[in-house]
Amino acid sequence: MVDFFQKDTFLIKNKRNLLVNIGQLENEQFYNQTTFAKYLSEHGLNYSPTKLGTYYRREKNGVTNGKFPLEDILINGTPYWYESTVDLFTRELLALEKEKTKKKKTNKKKRNKYMATQVFLKEKFFVSNISNKYPSEKSKIEKVKRFFMDFKTFSKGRKDITNCELCNREFQENDQTNLAFVKEDSNKLICEECAARVISEGVAETNW
Ligand SMILES: [Zn+2]
Repeated sequence: MVDFFQKDTFLIKNKRNLLVNIGQLENEQFYNQTTFAKYLSEHGLNYSPTKLGTYYRREKNGVTNGKFPLEDILINGTPYWYESTVDLFTRELLALEKEKTKKKKTNKKKRNKYMATQVFLKEKFFVSNISNKYPSEKSKIEKVKRFFMDFKTFSKGRKDITNCELCNREFQENDQTNLAFVKEDSNKLICEECAARVISEGVAETNW
């Protein structure tokens, strides 16, 4: 091995290699495509020799630039890497993986926070819809009559109510209306969504 380097220095690829002295070379272990891939796998990095070969060729052909280390020595067209190169690349990859995982976690946290905010706003919006417009009504609803009549029928007799009297959503012709019985107040015509909600919150349903 040592003889080979001494005679055929032209095969040694980069400047670093030219500066390597024989003593250093003797201390270096060499890795080929297979053992390089094995080393990476042993460190939890998913590299088959084939995959590694692909990365190497891309780098060699200039498709990528700095994504994969070029060989330290080329013997009869076969690339070999020093252990130090293999080790450095492994550590770089591991650091990169760690960074990726960290980013993923941060993104997930951000997403969760966003969703929580959305839910919070939705609930707050609904509550404020009721409490701002009808300050005390929610707590005063005693009973709800489901499917009172469809709005089309209702609107023939009553032109004064066009919106849900709880959330203020405009009734459509095909909407079902529900009647909320309110303590010390007139009954309120409410939409399906509001009826379902107040019932789910514990208000009793009545047949009349
Ligand atoms: Zn409503």
